[in-house]
Amino acid sequence: LALAVSACGANTSSGTGGSTTESNAGSGTGAKVGVILPETASSARWEGFDKPLLEAALKAEGLSPDIQNAQGDVQKFSTLADGMINAGVKVLIIATPNSEVGASVAKKAQAQGIQVIDYDRLNTGGSSAYYVSFDNVKVGELQGQGLADAMKDKPQGSQVIEIEGAPTDNNATLFTQGQKKVLQPLYDSGKLKLVQSQPIDNWDNQKGGQVFEQILTSNGGKVDGVVAANDGLAGAVITILKKVGLNGKVPVTGQDATPDGLQAVLRGDQYMTVFKPIKDEAEAAAKLAGALAKGDTAAADALASGSTDDSKGNRKVKSVLLSAQLITKDKVKSVVDAGFVKASDICVAD
Ligand code: BGC
Repeated sequence: LALAVSACGANTSSGTGGSTTESNAGSGTGAKVGVILPETASSARWEGFDKPLLEAALKAEGLSPDIQNAQGDVQKFSTLADGMINAGVKVLIIATPNSEVGASVAKKAQAQGIQVIDYDRLNTGGSSAYYVSFDNVKVGELQGQGLADAMKDKPQGSQVIEIEGAPTDNNATLFTQGQKKVLQPLYDSGKLKLVQSQPIDNWDNQKGGQVFEQILTSNGGKVDGVVAANDGLAGAVITILKKVGLNGKVPVTGQDATPDGLQAVLRGDQYMTVFKPIKDEAEAAAKLAGALAKGDTAAADALASGSTDDSKGNRKVKSVLLSAQLITKDKVKSVVDAGFVKASDICVAD
């Protein structure tokens, strides 16, 4: 595992999470900012990365963050939001388990003069004025490209199973769109054959593994490649592939560059992941929140100079859209070099 070793030998001084310095604390209104994250069972990113990075970035802006997680529970999401609205937050930053609940929370908050930022997931049909995320169609394209590259030497008609994200998460739709841009022509030409594409409620990793196992069994145990929409789902798929001795032989996609995902890439069980620099995402949201907390919408508009179409809302949302990177085994080191994970967090034994 020479490549694994080179990642392991990389600079170990950089770390995950809250490495943002607080020394340059912004003009410090001390305003309360509420943050609600969507789930814990869908990805290691929310608690492991977004939470500490948002905490640090918001404090660096001189704001007082309260960061909670809705655990995939729509009711809990609303209750947390009500609590924050009552506590007098100036800004709400929300990544919701479901666009509809996000839209209704935004409406309620805005009626109290609270600014709302859709974080990572756009609440389609909603009314938030700002959106901070990645180019999510492009993320899906990177996944499609990864799988196409991995399968280019496989025989005509090689079989693909797709394990997709939550139907209530607009991002899942965008990832699928991006994947299709690359994979549909290959399905159409007969190079690849789509066995089944299955969305997974709440991105629940365990459920994803069960669904994958069922599809695999009813396909007579045959699979040549897997689209897994994120590293959590990929991990669940790989567990099933291991049971039948196919791990490392069947390429699996992923997303988030989580420590587990990167380890699986180094081991060769997962073909690729997508590195989304969450620190930049957290900092962009915090800067926006800082401007909005001061009532400086001109500054906020200048920061969110991009624009996103709301597919359900017939409107455009002011956006910050960051770019992501395709990470195969030979690129894992760049995720370490970016300071996203420590080499010691992802080293794998020979
Ligand atoms: C995020 C992904 C994440 C997924 C499951 C998506 O909205 O963009 O990074 O893996 O949700 O939590």
